[in-house]
Amino acid sequence: MPAYYSASCKEVLKLLKTDSGGLSQAEAEDRLNLFGPNSLKPPPPISAWKILFNQFSNFIIYLLLFAVLFSIIIGEYGDSLVILAILVLNGIIGFFQEYNANRSLEALKRMATIQAAVLRDGKLKHVTAEQLVCGDILHLEHGDKIPADARLLNVVELQLDESPLTGESMPVRKQTAPISGQPGPADQTNMVFSSTSVVEGRGLAVVTACGQETEIGKISTMISEAKEEKTPLQRRLDRFGRNIGMVIIGICLLVFLLLMSRLRIDGEPLTNTIFLQFAFISISLAVAAVPTALPAVVTIALSIGTRRLLKKNMLVRRLTSVETLGSCDVICSDKTGTLTRNQMTVREGWCLGTSVDFDQDDGIHAIAKSEQLNLLFTAGVACNNSLANLRSDSGGNPTELALLRAADKAGITFEGKRLAERPFNSRRKCMSVAVESENRSLLYSKGAPEQMLNRCTHAVIQDSSPAMKRIPLSETERNDISDTYHRFGAQAMRVIAFAYREISDNEDFDDLAEEGLTFIGLQAMIDPPREGVVSAIEKAKLAHIRVIMITGDHRETANAIARQTGIEGECVTGPEIDAMNDIDLAVTLDTTNIFARVVPEHKQRIVSGLQDKGHIVAMTGDGVNDAPALKKADIGIAIGSGTDVAHEAADFVLLDDSFTSIVAGIEEGRGIYENIQKSIMLLLSGNLMEVLVIFLAVLLGFNLPLTALLLLWINLITDGAPALAYSVDPYGTAIMQRPPIPPGEGILPRTKLRLLVCLGSIGALISLVLFQLTGGGGNEVADIQRGQTVVFSYIVLFEMILVFILRRSYQVPLLSNHWLWIAVVFSLATQIFILYTPARFVFHVTALEIQEICYLLLATFVFMIPALIITRAKPN
Ligand code: ATP
Repeated sequence: MPAYYSASCKEVLKLLKTDSGGLSQAEAEDRLNLFGPNSLKPPPPISAWKILFNQFSNFIIYLLLFAVLFSIIIGEYGDSLVILAILVLNGIIGFFQEYNANRSLEALKRMATIQAAVLRDGKLKHVTAEQLVCGDILHLEHGDKIPADARLLNVVELQLDESPLTGESMPVRKQTAPISGQPGPADQTNMVFSSTSVVEGRGLAVVTACGQETEIGKISTMISEAKEEKTPLQRRLDRFGRNIGMVIIGICLLVFLLLMSRLRIDGEPLTNTIFLQFAFISISLAVAAVPTALPAVVTIALSIGTRRLLKKNMLVRRLTSVETLGSCDVICSDKTGTLTRNQMTVREGWCLGTSVDFDQDDGIHAIAKSEQLNLLFTAGVACNNSLANLRSDSGGNPTELALLRAADKAGITFEGKRLAERPFNSRRKCMSVAVESENRSLLYSKGAPEQMLNRCTHAVIQDSSPAMKRIPLSETERNDISDTYHRFGAQAMRVIAFAYREISDNEDFDDLAEEGLTFIGLQAMIDPPREGVVSAIEKAKLAHIRVIMITGDHRETANAIARQTGIEGECVTGPEIDAMNDIDLAVTLDTTNIFARVVPEHKQRIVSGLQDKGHIVAMTGDGVNDAPALKKADIGIAIGSGTDVAHEAADFVLLDDSFTSIVAGIEEGRGIYENIQKSIMLLLSGNLMEVLVIFLAVLLGFNLPLTALLLLWINLITDGAPALAYSVDPYGTAIMQRPPIPPGEGILPRTKLRLLVCLGSIGALISLVLFQLTGGGGNEVADIQRGQTVVFSYIVLFEMILVFILRRSYQVPLLSNHWLWIAVVFSLATQIFILYTPARFVFHVTALEIQEICYLLLATFVFMIPALIITRAKPN
């Protein structure tokens, strides 16, 4: 491959058969077909076989399979084949559920791909990084992640973070001149490399290598995405499963030994059949006790939750954070674009001695009369990077677009050549350009008024004549300017100040000094709050979530927008934070909900301070420098229109940039948590009941109220359906009227655990009584089978009733969620099928008669009374 860094820009373009206008779309497509997409070899997806295999890779299932195999070998086919069939059926159901859940999570991952701005057919276009080909001309902006290796053609203060490639965290300044010798990638300052990112400035580059051919592709032939970690909940459940595993094995052994000892007492011989029967019942008890459906339920609830979040415009980047959403009690939100619309409109232009109000007239009249105002709006066009965006109606910086539209309204254009630029940065809060126009070279600057005023020594004024004069800035004028921008700020307007100076002949364009400027004037623009923000903030307050506004804007502007949106509290500015130590800041954080004139670095201190107080903080951000704060926050939310770097650092991407979506997302988070909680409650109380029924029966010397087959059928086939249907349950009406979920609280807080034990125990006691009443106490096989059939049916009924009782305790409307009704009808229908078709011979059950049905209904009624009483209390 040619060394692109040693060739001139022209030669590189020639080598790559392209030009400064970019490739044609047709040529790009040809190259894409020929060389393939610009992506690194993806990690192999989890194969369907592996998912299928996982369904059976569980200790208890192994034990069961072993017992089945053993019974087949010794010729005891009986129930073992049915058990095998149930296991296979369960495996297939589990496989499809997990396969679908994985697929939808994969699809979400694909949505998070990077976009690149390229020139095709001479026009700026956005394509996915995968569609890039060698020869494409890339537009690089502050915050972009570099999608391929490329040779720089043009740079404006371009600096890159190359740490993913070189490990060096200091930003590297880039340039365009050829480099001789054989420098390593770290020293190829005229190249940019895939996976690195732009931290400052802008540039144009031609793509020289894609996919596996890039430097990063060469060092890691297979870069796999960070392995998807299990979420805290999944990990807790794993641990839970492992812990109860031991206890359960103990119980099962005990049951087995008790059964054997009863045999001895009764003086019956131990045959193979009896031995296997005992073994099966003990193992099936283990299946009943270990909630095998739980991991699947959680994975599916999370995957459905991520889809629901996407509908609310929250793209999930890290699954682990979905659970944290429910615990969030502070939202730190950017102002511009998140709380406000980011649709700026200039309302007033102001210069010393004159002004124009766009509300009053179209501006043309006043501006035509004043050289000062003319200069003010000309500066707004000259010192601006969004003209191409305005013309192509694509993107652009809203502040700059507003300046262009105002100038357009006033009929002002700017003809001139740009010589150099010092780009905007949120720390300096200003930008400057050097331009040549009408044989004069000028530097125009624009930025936050207090910053600009500090850089100005003079101002232009106009007395009675139309021509303006340049005068030294006295204290009186400074006060006049300062009073004016405070006044605009108090009206919730963003204020940009403008200044200029002459450029000397030997000026160094690499370090444009923004000093000794002449003040021109101010442009003040409104940016109204977004629709729905006021009610979203109200909702957050009701849900005990504090909303904090963090903005780079002026104190007055921040305060005014806070008032309009319903954010209350004190206001503190960035410089004031700088003057505080951590203790002072901690005190301030108790009462302050508005932070103005902050730079992204302050966000980190704010997050840390809040976290130290035990808060679970959601923080929004869009720029490169927001990345550390996004990472630090418990819930990092990147603004959709923000930079790639912010997206990568965040847990969520806010697709519509809107604050209302954050609150909606938190509501979803709480709902997902509640739905998982309901599923766990349902499965565990059913399981507890079954274990208790068997254990107590063995202990009390009763016949066995359930057979291995019935236990397996309930646990592997019937009870999973309603538990799964909970994943799509709507949320209770009061979900946003409760405090957030305490962060350290397990998935089942003590109150819920108590409830679960109560419900399971009541169910078990009723089952035992039912069993004894309906023939279970007899000696005839037929009688025992009748009793078992009643207990079997009661457990299924119990779970179906519990489905609705649990929802009631979460205030979920009864008739919502048709999936749940389908699941319940399915479970009941399979029950009827087993009892009233020849299937009953396979399961060794009997058709229920009217008397038994009456007993069942009575038992259900008896259960419902205490169940309704104990679930009456609100959860949490
Ligand atoms: P928020 O944090 O609420 O989203 P922001 O991120 O838009 O606000 P910054 O972009 O840091 O805040 O802007 C801070 C200040 O810098 C603004 O109040 C304005 O005075 C000035 N400013 C903003 N954009 C530009 C620009 N393109 N050119 C020059 N000055 C600007």
